[in-house]
Amino acid sequence: MKKEVIVLNCGSSSVKFAIIDAETGEAGLTGIAEALGNSDASLSYKLNGKKEKQALPEKAGHTEALNAIAEIIASTGVQPIAIGHRVVHGGEKFKGAALVDDSVLEAIEDYASMAPLHNMANLKGIVTAQAAYPDLPHVVVFDTSFFQTLPKKAFIYALPMSLYREHGIRRYGFHGTSHKFILDSMAKILNKPVSDTSIISAHLGNGCSVSAIEKGQAVDTSLGFIPLEGLVMGTRCGDIDPSLPGTLQKKLGKTADEISDLLNKQSGLLGISELSNDCRTLEDAALEGHEGALLAIEIFCYRLAKYIAGYMVAVPTLDAIVFTGGIGENSSLIRETTMGYFAHFGITLDEQKNTDARFGQGGKISAENASTAVYVVPTNEEWVIAAEAATFA
Ligand code: ADP
Repeated sequence: MKKEVIVLNCGSSSVKFAIIDAETGEAGLTGIAEALGNSDASLSYKLNGKKEKQALPEKAGHTEALNAIAEIIASTGVQPIAIGHRVVHGGEKFKGAALVDDSVLEAIEDYASMAPLHNMANLKGIVTAQAAYPDLPHVVVFDTSFFQTLPKKAFIYALPMSLYREHGIRRYGFHGTSHKFILDSMAKILNKPVSDTSIISAHLGNGCSVSAIEKGQAVDTSLGFIPLEGLVMGTRCGDIDPSLPGTLQKKLGKTADEISDLLNKQSGLLGISELSNDCRTLEDAALEGHEGALLAIEIFCYRLAKYIAGYMVAVPTLDAIVFTGGIGENSSLIRETTMGYFAHFGITLDEQKNTDARFGQGGKISAENASTAVYVVPTNEEWVIAAEAATFA
């Protein structure tokens, strides 16, 4: 019998859903309910390769969306064995996936002060899905837990230690399911045990992060207390001078929430280019000579290269540098520009292999004589969530 798992990822205004075979990673159903709470709320999905779209009642919220999703799932005739829920923030409590009970729900709510938009939406998804599927095990898989192996030197900020002890102010790291998938995939590709595999993995999607993984354990990562630190992202600023939020609040006469919105939603590739947060649009515009797009791509790659180079000190047994995520898997330009900074380390790309690497395919893109291998590996976060959830069924 197939071990099929429902995977739910409830965001603040969307619910992504899938039915995943926990053993093969195959997705029989994938879909998204979007614009929840708005007049144009809608639901689209792909079932056995066929695309469908369905309107939701005006201003439909998470509950209406999850009810509609439950009907679609019922129509497939699949008998799921578990439900895996993506949860963004698991603080220091969760070092792995957990079966949902009251104490788990309470902890997710506690950590909502650190990831308010994400954790409360995740929680809503769990509670609604529990009502729809009372007999199935509900399992939470956290973005943060993969990084619970970080040493103190990597996760403590140079702030008064009391802030860590009393308020949990530290680097947590995010995109853990993706970095874990890349680690496991690279171990298979290199034919090594995971515990002997060392990589620097760059997850480049709308959110972006780099992780240093030494012998199967995360030892550093670029996202911090919330998913805002580190790399330039689609609309998020990544590293900036820590004095800036206060300065901007005064200069622009804005509230702390408005500045947070500016740093999270109006910055990054969008802020620099003054055009778009979408890498494809920027690449097209750059070809036409759009100065903002050219600068945004240049800064994105330079920051990324600095992080990868910095993490080489944290990974002495480095096997490979790996690109993943929508940008990492698809953009030969971003990979080429980023890795261009590594020529004097003896790390060079095979131009043809780099251009040939496309979505859904992975492979080695470094030159034969490169001192470190460079790979593209398509990520599959849903599979990690399904596989973890299946272990509780
Ligand atoms: P999310 O973080 O929301 O899961 P994705 O991993 O899907 O996002 O990545 C979205 C990003 O991938 C967007 O910036 C998009 O422009 C970029 N992307 C997707 N396809 C391509 C492509 N062919 N070339 C360049 N960038 C691409």
